[in-house]
Amino acid sequence: MTFTFDRIASAGAARAGVLMTPHGRVDTPAFMAVGTAATVKALDPLELEAIGCQMILANTYHLHLRPGDEIVRSLGGVHRFMGWDGPMLTDSGGFQVFSLESLRTVSEDGVEFRSHIDGSRHRFTPESVMQIERNLGADVIMQFDHVIPGQSVEADARDASERSIRWLVRCRTEFERIAQREQGTGNRGPYFQGASVPGSLFPVPAQVLFPIVQGGIHSTLRREASRAIRSIDDWLGYGIGGLSVGESKPDMYAMLDVVNEELPTDRARYLMGVGFPEDLVEGVRRGVDMFDCVAPTRMGRNGTAFTADGRVNVRRAELKADPRPLDETCECSTCKRFSRAYIRHLFVADEILGLRLVSLHNVHFLVALMRRSRAAVIDGTFDAWSRDWLARYHTRPTPVS
Ligand SMILES: [Zn+2]
Repeated sequence: MTFTFDRIASAGAARAGVLMTPHGRVDTPAFMAVGTAATVKALDPLELEAIGCQMILANTYHLHLRPGDEIVRSLGGVHRFMGWDGPMLTDSGGFQVFSLESLRTVSEDGVEFRSHIDGSRHRFTPESVMQIERNLGADVIMQFDHVIPGQSVEADARDASERSIRWLVRCRTEFERIAQREQGTGNRGPYFQGASVPGSLFPVPAQVLFPIVQGGIHSTLRREASRAIRSIDDWLGYGIGGLSVGESKPDMYAMLDVVNEELPTDRARYLMGVGFPEDLVEGVRRGVDMFDCVAPTRMGRNGTAFTADGRVNVRRAELKADPRPLDETCECSTCKRFSRAYIRHLFVADEILGLRLVSLHNVHFLVALMRRSRAAVIDGTFDAWSRDWLARYHTRPTPVS
C-alpha cells in the first residue's frame, strides 16, 4: 500500500510514467474521467474499466452537499459508494465555491457560501476541506485553493496565489493531524502510508495530498508559487490550477512552459480541469502527466463527438444516412458497433442510449489519446507523432453546430 511516481521515459518535456496508489496503478500521461456526484455521468464503472480508464475524479463540493461526506464515509468511502475499485482523486471544492459569485464571501480563514441546491449556508476552510476529503477517502486529495478568473490582473492573481500557499500550509498541518488521530502512527509527511484500523468498520485509507500551483497568467507568480510550494515539502505530485478558466490558449500553454521549468521532473504534474483533445496533447508536450475534464461527458450528452479530424455534431442532417462510425480509427464499443446514422437517429428521437454511446466514445477517445501519447514517448516518436496529430485535428475543424 504505497504511493510512488516513476518517470520511465521522456521525449523533450513529455514524459511517460507510472503513478502507484493503494487502489492500483495509473499509466501516465492519463486522462481521468470526472464523476462529479460520484458518477461519471451516464456511464457504469464497468464500462470505464473496459475502455482502460484507470483513475477517476469526484467533486468534494458536490458530495459534501449531497449526499454528505459523512454519509459516504459511513458507507465505506467513495470507492465503495460508487462501485469503483480503482484509483480516485477528489478536488477540493475551491473551483466550485469560487464560481458561486453571488453566493460566497471570502476571508483569510476560508469561504462562506450558499448551496446552489437549497441555499443552505456552508463554510469551507483548509481544515474543513481536509476532513471532508478524508471522509470521502479518495487516494489523491487536493489542497483547498483560491481560484480566480483566467484574465485576472496581477495584483488579484498574486493575492489568490499567496493565499493558496498559506492555505496549503494549513491543509498540510490538518492532513497530518487527521492522519495521526486516525492512525496513531505519528507524522509520516504529506504522503504517509495508511493502514486499516483493526476492528474499524471504515478502513482508514492511505491518501496523498497534492498542492496546487496558482498564479493566473503571470509567469512571475507561477514561478514564485512553484518555488514556495517546493520549499514547503517534497510532494509526490503537483496540481496546476487556475487554467482553462477563460484565459487564451497561448496564455495557458505559456504558463505550462513556465511551470514545467520550475517543478521537479521526477514528480507527477496534474493540469486541473483540462480538457479538450488538443489541450491534452499540448499539455503532454509541456510535461503534464494527468488531466481531468467534464468535456467528454458533457459534450457527449449534447451530441458532440471528438474525432481525429475535430469535433462532430451528431445531430447534423448530413449524418442521416452516414454508415461510418463516429471515428473510423476509434476502437471503442460505440464505434465498433454503431453508425453515425444510428447515433444521429437516437439523438433526434431523444433516446437515452444516444447520450450514453457518445459519452463513452468521448471518454475513450481521451483515454486512448493519452495511451497513444505514452507509447510514442516510450518509443521516441512523440514529437513527430504529436505534431502530425495536432495538424490533422486542426485541419478540418468540423462546425460544432
Ligand atoms: Zn469510438
